[in-house]
Amino acid sequence: MQHNTLPDRLWLKILVGMILGVVCALMIEIKDPWREWIIFPGDLFIYLLRMVIVPLVLSSVILGVANAGSLDHLKRMGVRLFPYFVGTTIISIMIGIFLTSLFQPGITVDASTVEREFLTNNRDVFDNLTIPDRILSTIPVNQAQALLDKDMLQLVVLGIVTGIAFLTIKSKAVKTCRDICEFVQDMSMMIVNWAMMFVPLAVFSLMIKAISTMGMSGVLGIAYYALSVVCGLLCLLCLYLIIVTFVAKRDPLQFLKDIRSAQIVAFSSSSSSTTMPVSMNVAENKLKIDKKISSFSIPVGATVNMDGTALYQATAAIFLCQIFKIDLSVWETVLLIFTTVVASIGTPALPGAGLIVLTSILTSIGIPTGGIALILGVDRLLDMCRTTINVTGDLTAAAVMQQWMGKKKPKYERKSKDN
Ligand code: ASP
Repeated sequence: MQHNTLPDRLWLKILVGMILGVVCALMIEIKDPWREWIIFPGDLFIYLLRMVIVPLVLSSVILGVANAGSLDHLKRMGVRLFPYFVGTTIISIMIGIFLTSLFQPGITVDASTVEREFLTNNRDVFDNLTIPDRILSTIPVNQAQALLDKDMLQLVVLGIVTGIAFLTIKSKAVKTCRDICEFVQDMSMMIVNWAMMFVPLAVFSLMIKAISTMGMSGVLGIAYYALSVVCGLLCLLCLYLIIVTFVAKRDPLQFLKDIRSAQIVAFSSSSSSTTMPVSMNVAENKLKIDKKISSFSIPVGATVNMDGTALYQATAAIFLCQIFKIDLSVWETVLLIFTTVVASIGTPALPGAGLIVLTSILTSIGIPTGGIALILGVDRLLDMCRTTINVTGDLTAAAVMQQWMGKKKPKYERKSKDN
């Protein structure tokens, strides 16, 4: 089934909703019971998207693998996609480390404040999994638990294994199971299309909610650090556009234009998994990516490919090193890169998850995790930005795969003004 296209000029309506949301949040102090009603459409939108995440991820990954047609084709896709994901993640981390070392945002922070914050806010969110433990934790030993916990990494593994079974086992039942998966995928996309109808209103209320939660004063406090992260994310965006131009062989401006609805939803929801259904819609209807490729690369990318998060985690780690006056040796820097690659792959695609997983990176290279208290204030804002980049990275990867797999993209409707 070709999933419905998005309504006309949706991106503009979303943008207006976003700007109005920011203006209202800054100008009016909205109190209960009105606040509850104003944030209701945003929550409803998020709940609808969350409702379809598990069935959509599972059915899409299964079909994405099964639609490869043969194990050979699947291998061809896998050996391109995974090195691409890891390669772009390593580059993102290096950009983060380079810019933080250049800007030195940690030097501007008052050390006495740090000590106080450190003593009073030493949050106990340590996650001391070793790397073998981490790998083992991706195996869905208890599938019901994986569904219940919405553990995306385990669901992706389950989907890949099931898809491989579809390709390998010769039985009549495979056709029936495949039809069921197709039905589940179509049904999920139908719900996404309903949710997309009121996305401008939802973005308006999500912006009000975000700003009233984080507070503007929190944002200004460590603006320099935040600026370093944002600069890094912008560099990453430029890198994607270069990849889109030279590797995916597409017009970068048209690409940006096509993906903006997904970017705005990512920005306002701070969750790549929540945005994933919208990314699928954009990939198929706007970027005209072959369904065989988008159903595999988008859900897998949303789960494991988080370049924005990796850049942010590396920047935060170096920033805290600067505050605590820790000089990392070359070996420790390599360890930081390696741990961040693994950590960003394991970061759930949910709001604030990157910050929680950051603690395990800090622990592994001996940086006091209490410093996290300092960056909590700006985390929501940075989460919005890094999620936008994560989603852009997934769509870039899908466009690259389209090119690498030798699938001709259907002619672009360059004049289209809708989104
Ligand atoms: N919110 C991000 C995402 O969903 C993950 C993170 O916290 O970095 O992509």
